[in-house]
Amino acid sequence: MSLTGTYDDANIFAKILRGEAPCVKVYEDDHVLSFMDIFPQSSGHFLVLPKAKSRNLLELDDAALQETMVRVKRLAAAARKAFNPDGIVVTQFNGAPAGQTVFHTHFHIIPRWEGEALGRHGGGQADMDVLKDQAAKIAAAL
Ligand code: 5GP
Repeated sequence: MSLTGTYDDANIFAKILRGEAPCVKVYEDDHVLSFMDIFPQSSGHFLVLPKAKSRNLLELDDAALQETMVRVKRLAAAARKAFNPDGIVVTQFNGAPAGQTVFHTHFHIIPRWEGEALGRHGGGQADMDVLKDQAAKIAAAL
């Protein structure tokens, strides 16, 4: 998938946004949906998606990006309060060669701890009960 092309309404995040596929929700409002990553790279790894359709950052409308980034910051602060990590990665990939695997724009929020290596991107599937507990902790810290 290159940086150019058309938005695919069948991508998994589009299905989650339409309620056709499940997610462990952290937060939702008119502008974004946030949910736990099911193949987490660290404990507490979650995602923030602008609801507006775009395949990547370069296609995302400026107003939607602003609304999204304010929420990314707020959600990262909630993750800090919930998990007390030593650091937090906020990242985002554009195009398959850059590491993007789902082509609806999204931001990763990944808590990090001193001495703990980052898991493989898209590695093993997490325990749903653990994800639900983490999502509840982030939501409670908002
Ligand atoms: P990307 O590589 O596109 O930046 O990230 C896509 C992320 O979505 C990956 O971290 C992957 O683990 C996660 N992911 C892929 N499929 C699903 C899914 O069906 N549900 C959830 N919650 N996360 C997913």
